[in-house]
Amino acid sequence: MTYQNTRRDLLKLAGATAAASVVATGKAFSQQAGRVVVIGGGFGGATVARYLRRAGVAVTLIDSNPNYITCPFSNYVLSGVNQLASVTKSFDGLKAAGVTLVTGTVTGINTTAKTVAVGGASAPIPYDRLVISPGIDFKFSAIQGYNEAATEKMPHAFKAGAQTTLLRNQLVAMPDGGTFVMAVPDNPFRCPPGPYERASQIAYYFKQAKPRSKIIIVDAKEAFSKQGLFTAAWAELYPGMIEWRPPSKGGGKTVSVDLAAMTVATEFDKVKGDVVNVIPPQRSGTVVDLAGLADGDWCAVDAKTFESKKVPGIHLVGDAILAGAMPKSGFSANNQGKIAAAAIVNMLANKPAESPSYINTCYSLVAPDYGISVANVYTVGADGNIAAVPNTGGVSPAGAPAAFRKQEADYARGWYASISADIWG
Ligand SMILES: Cc1cc2nc3c(=O)[nH]c(=O)nc-3n(C[C@H](O)[C@H](O)[C@H](O)COP(=O)(O)OP(=O)(O)OC[C@H]3O[C@@H](n4cnc5c(N)ncnc54)[C@H](O)[C@@H]3O)c2cc1C
Repeated sequence: MTYQNTRRDLLKLAGATAAASVVATGKAFSQQAGRVVVIGGGFGGATVARYLRRAGVAVTLIDSNPNYITCPFSNYVLSGVNQLASVTKSFDGLKAAGVTLVTGTVTGINTTAKTVAVGGASAPIPYDRLVISPGIDFKFSAIQGYNEAATEKMPHAFKAGAQTTLLRNQLVAMPDGGTFVMAVPDNPFRCPPGPYERASQIAYYFKQAKPRSKIIIVDAKEAFSKQGLFTAAWAELYPGMIEWRPPSKGGGKTVSVDLAAMTVATEFDKVKGDVVNVIPPQRSGTVVDLAGLADGDWCAVDAKTFESKKVPGIHLVGDAILAGAMPKSGFSANNQGKIAAAAIVNMLANKPAESPSYINTCYSLVAPDYGISVANVYTVGADGNIAAVPNTGGVSPAGAPAAFRKQEADYARGWYASISADIWG
């Protein structure tokens, strides 16, 4: 089977599974009552809200912000290929679909009364089932000298928005011949290929605007996602510009930063940059602590229903959860959101959960016309966790011709447009 056939079959399988279960269970649900509150209007939460609403459920969606800015495609804002407006999604499409929107930060969850308190709102919001897709927060204490205030000097840009604009402005202001340093954490973290796509996009910008500049990636890991494809592309498109330093080559875990000296220190070395991008270690969004949902850094859930293993009646999806072999991606969060919506519809109708298939594809643009990807189908393994189905998906082939890379770049843009429409309308 060719690579393209594998991809086509895989998408067909997953699309059919997710759509069929929501539509089928939606019909059965129509006479049932049930109020669902969703916290988080990102890839996971907005998907759950839209698909529950489509099945006739009354849904309230709460997000801190009046709109949502996607991390996917934000690396192309850093390179100047895209503008921030192109990755900014309005919640109007969800409102038009009948979802009740509340803008505010959740400050309390009462699991006995089944209510959610929102800062600034007059009364707590009641729920029959609660869904939380809060994304990530940063473990600032893991890096000495780095905290919320330090992100103004050394941005993380791993939550898109003002941080993306700040990093872009720093790159534009950097003189030709300068050094961009990126500190990358150990697994697990949001979007495993994200930092390497970022290095690629910044190299694309430097190649045109500041060709004497360098990029140093200080990495806590000895290996990374799509590594062979990235490094081959860097050698071809940006020779000598990107230096990747794993622990064995002077990189390692970032242990401290010096904002005045603009240095990043690992256990082994110290490196100075003109622009420094620190991606700190991560954990589930801290809102989960309001209901005691975390199990260490992340939240454990039932793989079929995404219901919390700690507190019944609360479901979690997206980056915040322990999802077995599934990576923390927007694609995964969207897929999990559809499966969680179908399970909730069944639960409200006192029906058992179905046996889902899960899917993920992560595209990366090394240059505007050079795309690479990794894809997989997943199932519930013997231990009850999400496990990869052998011989499905895989990475793009090595040594493919330019036309193939261009086609993958077009697929990436198509994916972004279609998932955005699917979620936010
Ligand atoms: C640079 C970069 C590039 C990426 N590229 C890709 C890609 O190409 N493809 C891909 O699939 N994935 C990509 N990702 C990963 C993707 O962004 C995440 O996996 C995805 O956003 C996870 O969705 P989520 O719903 O779990 O969290 P989020 O999308 O982060 O949504 C969480 C929402 O919850 C809200 N929230 C949190 N706490 C509260 C509270 N207390 N009260 C109210 N609201 C709250 C937040 O405001 C936010 O809107 C990328 C990530 C980065 C950083």
